Amino acid sequence: MKESASLFIIFSPLIDTTFNFNISTFCFHVIFAAMQNIRHLSYNDIEALFLQIGEKKFRAKQVWEWLWQKNARAFNDMTNLSKELRQKLVEQFSFPALTIETTQYSEDGTIKSRFVTFDGYKVEGVLIPTEERKTVCVSSQVGCSLGCKFCATGFMGRKRNLDFDEIYDEVVLVNQHSEKTFGQKLTNIVFMGMGEPLLNYNNVLKAIERISAEDGLFMSPKRITVSTAGIAKMIKKLGDDKVRFKLALSLHAANDKKRSEIMPINDTNNIQSLTEALNYFYKHTGNEITFEYILFKNFNDSQKDADELVKLYRQIPVDLINIIEYNTIENASFDKPEENVTNCFMEYLASKRVNARLRKSRGKDIDAACGQLANKG
Ligand code: SF4
Repeated sequence: MKESASLFIIFSPLIDTTFNFNISTFCFHVIFAAMQNIRHLSYNDIEALFLQIGEKKFRAKQVWEWLWQKNARAFNDMTNLSKELRQKLVEQFSFPALTIETTQYSEDGTIKSRFVTFDGYKVEGVLIPTEERKTVCVSSQVGCSLGCKFCATGFMGRKRNLDFDEIYDEVVLVNQHSEKTFGQKLTNIVFMGMGEPLLNYNNVLKAIERISAEDGLFMSPKRITVSTAGIAKMIKKLGDDKVRFKLALSLHAANDKKRSEIMPINDTNNIQSLTEALNYFYKHTGNEITFEYILFKNFNDSQKDADELVKLYRQIPVDLINIIEYNTIENASFDKPEENVTNCFMEYLASKRVNARLRKSRGKDIDAACGQLANKG
């Protein structure tokens, strides 16, 4: 409180100058960022705080429920608290909830939402409905630093990591959308949106903890998949941390030369190191591993490429290979193979007894398909 008040005094004389709008927006962000985010407090912290200010213990439970289960977006939504208590919370804490800026609807039922963070950044999340499943694809960072050559997010660069409560909000907001549009809650979550989840490790794990907690969204971690471009050290850490969610590796090429060409991260995390890390992960968790493999015309769609993929598949306990249809983006010179080439590739994998599935892209018309997220539209 003191900190935020003094910051306000320092900056407030500037508000009436010619820089009115920018400076006041800046002030707001500085103040907001300087205040303690209430969702970064533990239950015990909130309880202790309330006792300290003479409030009853059960108030902590009420607030906690609003924060994590009843999905309040602001302190004023907490209607079972007195006005005075809400005011005290407003003065003492920030509550930087994500908001939805725009929603786009694809003709195939896919829904893309653009979220805005408290400091004005934008990220996207996609709701992919099927008969049996309602899956959300969430972002873990604003942009991405890994610069994969086929991915629109990679061309944006990385602006910042998302906090765990912001990732949680993406799921909450899309869940509300799913209930409203399809009358069904989300069934699955995939971390395949903007950003590399393992480069925002703590926030991603904390978000998953809240999503799966009984006093959170109470979704099984077995319905959550984290997809990585391949950070060997962090994959091993997932094993050490005995996580309960599934892991997907964005492979896209099964030899180092080709992979490095399209995914610069392969220069420091080559296929051998990823093979070791994934085996380590499986040994320590027993969790499902999948490969993601986008087919690019005349790049990774030959029989030789398929052979290399099969060879790698045999070295790791991979449950499934998702062969993904490529979606063209600006700036990239890739194309998708002819249908007969894709079919040949699939048939060849089947002949080698590889568990592979062809994933048709969803939401292409609204730039919501795999690799297309870049705050467009
Ligand atoms: Fe980043 Fe994933 Fe895009 Fe690669 S594919 S640039 S890791 S968001």
